[in-house]
Amino acid sequence: MTRESDAHQLETRDLPDGIDREDWENPTWQLRNRIRTVDELARYIDPTPEEVAAIEDLSRRFRFVITPYYAHLMSREDPSCPLRRQVVPSLEEAQDEAGLADPLDEVLHSPVKNVIRVYPDRIAFCVNNECALYCRYCLRKRMVGDVDWSMQKKELQTALDWIAVTPEIRDVLLTGGDPLVYSDGRLEWLLERLHAIPHVELIRLGTRLPVTLPYRVTQELCDMLSRYHPIWVNTHFNHPREITSAAAQACDRLLRAGIPVGNQSVLMRGINDDLETMRALCEGLVRIRVRPYYCYQAQLLEGTSHFRVPIERGLELFRALRGRTSGFAIPQFVLDTPHGKVPLDYPFWRGREGQDALMETWDGHIWREPNPLDSAGEG
Ligand SMILES: *Cc1c(COP(=O)(O)O)cnc(C)c1O
Repeated sequence: MTRESDAHQLETRDLPDGIDREDWENPTWQLRNRIRTVDELARYIDPTPEEVAAIEDLSRRFRFVITPYYAHLMSREDPSCPLRRQVVPSLEEAQDEAGLADPLDEVLHSPVKNVIRVYPDRIAFCVNNECALYCRYCLRKRMVGDVDWSMQKKELQTALDWIAVTPEIRDVLLTGGDPLVYSDGRLEWLLERLHAIPHVELIRLGTRLPVTLPYRVTQELCDMLSRYHPIWVNTHFNHPREITSAAAQACDRLLRAGIPVGNQSVLMRGINDDLETMRALCEGLVRIRVRPYYCYQAQLLEGTSHFRVPIERGLELFRALRGRTSGFAIPQFVLDTPHGKVPLDYPFWRGREGQDALMETWDGHIWREPNPLDSAGEG
C-alpha cells in the first residue's frame, strides 16, 4: 500500500532550512512560529495565484493561521492536497450563497454565555476562541478569530456557576476553540472546578491538537488530566496522511493515561469522500487505538459549499465499509442540527412482511427473520 509509505516520506522529510529538531518539537516554538502570511507559507508550499488572492481577500473575514508542523505535512506542489485544502483559503469560500453563519442556532441554545445546550444531560462548553490552526470549514467560524473576545476567568466562572446549579448536567464537553491551547495551569484551574461539582460525572475534551500540534500533548499534560478522571478525549483526524508517528505518540500518551480517545471527522468533497481514503482513515485510526466515533455531514455553513457532498454519498460510503472492515472502525455518520445529532444510517432495515422482518445484509442479500409481532409476552 502506498499510503503508509507516503506518510512516512512526509514525516522524515527534512525540516525547512535553519530549523532544528528540538525547536520543532517544542509546542511553544510551534505556536510562536505559526504561519500567517503568504511569505511564511511559501517556505512550506508553492502557493498558487488563487491561494495568494484568497489569503489576501479572505483572511480578514476568517483567520488564516497554520502550525509549521501541519504545513510541513502538506504537499508543496499539489493545491488539491487534502491537508492543504483544509487550512489554506480558497476563493471558493466567497462563492457560497446558501451558507449560514450559525447553522445550529447555537446562539439560541445558550443558557449562559459560552455554554451550548441541546440535550438535557450534557453541554458543550466553549472555553476559548483559539485553535492551533484554523480549519476553513470550521463550524464556529462566526466566533473564532474574533480577537477582541478573550475569555476571562470571570466568564468561565459564570458558566461554572450555571453548571453547579443545574443538576441535570452530568457530562461536560470542553470545546472552543480548542481547550488544549490553554496552558496546563489554566486548564487545570478549570478541570479542578468542574471535577468538584458532584453531578458532573465526566468531562470530555474536543481537541484537534493531537493532529495539528501533537507536541502539545506532553506527558505532563496527560498526568495532569489523569487527576480528573473520568476524562474522555475526542480528536479530529480527517485524512490518513494526518496519522503521523508524532500524532500516534500524542494519542498513545493520552491512552496510557487512561483516557479513551475517539475521533470525529467531517465528510468533505475531495478530502475523504472516497471509499479508499475513508477506509484508510478509519483503519489507520484503530491501528493507533483511536476509535472512530462520529463522521459529520458538513454543515450548511457560509463559505463551505465547495466541501459539501450529498448525504447519499455518506450513506453509500459507510454502507460499503460495513462488513468490509472491523465494526469498531466504522464511525456513526451524523448530521448535527439545532435539535442535536441525527444518525444517518443506510436502511439495512427493510421493514416487515407479516410475521417476518426483512433486512439487507452487508453483502447485499435480503434476510428474512421470522419475528411474529405478538411474540413478546402474550398468550
Ligand atoms: C455533540 C454535542 C454534544 C455531545 O453529543 P454526544 O452525542 O453525546 O457525543 C453535547 N452538546 C452539544 C451542544 C453537542 O453539539
